[in-house]
Order: sequence, then structure tokens, then C-alpha cells
Amino acid sequence: MDEVRQVIRDVQHFGEEGGVVPVIDVAATSTFLDPADMEKVFHGTLPGRYLYSRHANPTVAALGKKLAAMEGMDAALGVASGMAAISCALEQLLPAGGHIVSSRTIYGGTYALFRNIFPRRGIRVTFVDPDDVSAFERAMEPDTGVLYTETMSNPLLGISDLKALGRLAKEHGAAFVVDNTFTPAVVTPSRYGADVVVYSCTKYISGSSDLIAGAIVGGAAFVEELVDIHNGLAMLTGPVMDALIAHKLYLRLDHLPIRMAAHSRAAGYLAAKMEEAGVPVIYPGLKSHPQHKLMKQMMHPEYGYGGMITIDCKTREKAFALAARLQEEKFGLYAVSLGFSRTLLSCPSGSTSSEIPAAEQARMNLSPGIMRMSIGYTGAEMVMWERFHRCWKEIS
Ligand SMILES: *Cc1c(COP(=O)(O)O)cnc(C)c1O
Repeated sequence: MDEVRQVIRDVQHFGEEGGVVPVIDVAATSTFLDPADMEKVFHGTLPGRYLYSRHANPTVAALGKKLAAMEGMDAALGVASGMAAISCALEQLLPAGGHIVSSRTIYGGTYALFRNIFPRRGIRVTFVDPDDVSAFERAMEPDTGVLYTETMSNPLLGISDLKALGRLAKEHGAAFVVDNTFTPAVVTPSRYGADVVVYSCTKYISGSSDLIAGAIVGGAAFVEELVDIHNGLAMLTGPVMDALIAHKLYLRLDHLPIRMAAHSRAAGYLAAKMEEAGVPVIYPGLKSHPQHKLMKQMMHPEYGYGGMITIDCKTREKAFALAARLQEEKFGLYAVSLGFSRTLLSCPSGSTSSEIPAAEQARMNLSPGIMRMSIGYTGAEMVMWERFHRCWKEIS
């Protein structure tokens, strides 16, 4: 049953004069006919009125409705980037500081935020192995307010047991926050107890590598709190989403599920060919993946296992040589980020995961020869495989 596709579609905003797409509302500020009403907005007694676009904007709100529907949650707020989503959501959850238990294998920027910025703000973070639920449990402290993980970890594509972690968070009265950037539509974390879901919309949700954006999805009260005029992290630190970007993302959400299925099909084809040819490959859709069964239980099968593949070239030199050849052969582009219509390649050890110290990288099995591939859906799968295989044989 194509539930995700259906719920996204059924959120519908008409443009003025009955347009089939919503208008882009670019107004920075809104007029009040009665001055007394403006005071009421500041005092929180006139909900639903637009005041100033950093507080709320109709186009950003329309996007929020679609994102919330996709996640099966009450509300969502578009923000300026994935990092803005993560930092605002977590600081709003821990207003007086406190403790986070987090998966160790997370996005490099998030890791650096947790390690280098949060301590300045009275927030301590303990990192644990993502596939060891008992390690999360052992790390819980009396002031643990948040349990944090990514559905599919970066760049090693480990799968978190969201159900077990959600249960653990609940038992300890902590909020369960999930970064679902690698698996929109594929996995719905709220089904497994996520209280807040964060996204870098820069990746699959945009799909065009032409903008930076993020989103926070959660309960109505929490999302409302984020834009509270006197206490909201998003409102008062200011990383809000622009209406033009919200409008682009609104339109792109309708075809996100189709794009995810296309990414998954291309990645699944390549991963199977790679495994057959003896390439050390990690892909959750392969039976050899340690959490293949878990992923199968959590995912909506119609969108597949996602578009990310990681291979191990063993050494940094071989990974670099392969990347250069793959780019020459037009297999992919050597660039950070993911979720683009074309294939993007990167070697995370010295780049996107370079924030993570070498010893820690070794602990996570992040070898210097790791190459992460965000498989695009453009081109013919068979041609793409031939190009990859030719380059792989050259460097082996
Ligand atoms: C890219 C990314 C982020 C950060 O998002 P930006 O939009 O670049 O700020 C966070 N988490 C994950 C998993 C990402 O891939």
C-alpha cells in the first residue's frame, strides 16, 4: 500500500484564483487592520495570525503541512538548513542544558556540533555504537533528555533499531530524536516512537542539489514552541526558511516517493552487481548487510532500500584513483552531499567525516579507503555498471 505517496499528495493548497499550485507569499510582514490585534499576537492570545515572516510564513506553513503528513506527525517547521534543524530542535528540547545519548556514526557536522558547540551551551553528549541498544541504555543518566540517532548512519549505512531505541527513550522519559535524511518516505520514524524527526532537505527532499534547507517534524506544541515569540529557538536565533525555497520543496515533495524508488532501484542493481564482482560493498538491500532484516521490517517496501552505497577500496590512494576515473567516465561527480538526480561520490574519511578524530574513525570501522556513493537515477543502469566495473578493474 502506497501510504506515504498518498498522504503527501492529499495535502493540497490552491493558489489565488484556483491555481493548481500554491502562491509564493514573499511578504516579510503582515498588515493589521486593528492595532489591538497586533498586541494580542505578541501576547499569544490570537493564534493563527501572520505577523512577521521570521515568526511564520504561509508558504513555509504549507510545506510544513505536507512534511507533517509524510511523517505521520502533527506539525513541521521548515528551517534554513539541516544543521539549523538539528541545533534548534535539540536546544529547544534541552533549555537548561543536560545530557544527550547519541549514536557515534552520525553526520560529521552533527558530530562536531555535539562535541565542539554543545558543551559551551551546557549540553553534554555521550556517543555509543548505534547497533548496540544496551550501550544506549548504559549511557543513560538521570539528566538525559534526548536520545539521538540517524535511521541510516553516515557513511557506513548501519541501520538503527528505531523501535528498541524509541522504547528505551520512553522508559527514561527522554525525547527520541531521529535524523531521517537518508531515508525520507522509505522509513517513517514516528511509527517506532520518534518524538522529533529532523531532515536536511538539501538532500533527497530537494533532489536537485540547488538549495540548502532543513526541517523539524514533531508534535504541534513542540513545533509551536520553536517559533514562540519570546522563547522559540528558531524564532530567536533566526535560521528560518525562505518562502521561495519552501515553494520549491512543496512541489518536489509530490515526486519524492517516486524519486526514492528510482534511487533505490538503481542502487540495488549496482550493489548486487558489485557484490557479484567481489567489490567490498555495503548496501542495506543486500542479504550480507548486518541489519538487512531490521531494515526490511522498518521500511515501506515500495520505495526500496535507499540510494546510498558504500564501498571499501582499502587505501586512500585507491579510493582517490577510482574516484578520479569514475568522474572521467561520467559515472558520477566527486562532490559532497547526496540525494541528487546524478551520482555523487566522496571519500568521507578525510572530508565529511574529518571532524571525527582518527581513533574514533577506527572504532567506527571507517577505513581511509571508504567511498560513499549517492546513486542517481539518471542514465541506464547497465551502462553505469559497465563504467564502474571498468574503472574498478583498473585500480584493483
Ligand atoms: C547533510 C546532512 C546534514 C546537514 O544538513 P545541511 O542541510 O547541510 O545543513 C545533517 N544530517 C545528515 C544525515 C546529512 O546528510
